[in-house]
Amino acid sequence: MTIYTLINTTVEKSKKQLEQVNLETKTYKRPAWVKPSVASDEELCPECFKVVGVLSRYKLVCILGKIKKGTTVGDLTDKLGLKQPTITHHLNVLKSVGAVDVEDRGRERVYTLNRDAHCFEECQIPY
Ligand SMILES: [Zn+2]
Repeated sequence: MTIYTLINTTVEKSKKQLEQVNLETKTYKRPAWVKPSVASDEELCPECFKVVGVLSRYKLVCILGKIKKGTTVGDLTDKLGLKQPTITHHLNVLKSVGAVDVEDRGRERVYTLNRDAHCFEECQIPY
């Protein structure tokens, strides 16, 4: 187990705990790696928490933020070093809160960051 997987597993675990604790309040403590420029001090709405609550998911957001023309799952798989189903899962979660858009271009499915998404416009999650 690499340090990276260890961190990731810990993050996943604490995310589950947070979800249980905060079901009533609907707010979440901001993960430590999110830059302080995020608007609200310590809390994020559940949608935004889906974006930043898992480190690999947030990394996907940051990678997509750098590739304006969008990219494919295969490319993201190479860049993040995760398995394709994992990337697809994360992309689907991001899509479910409108943080990424998907478009069929010929044979390729191209994912782009939706810069107008609530998470980035209103909650100002940096990417
Ligand atoms: Zn939000």
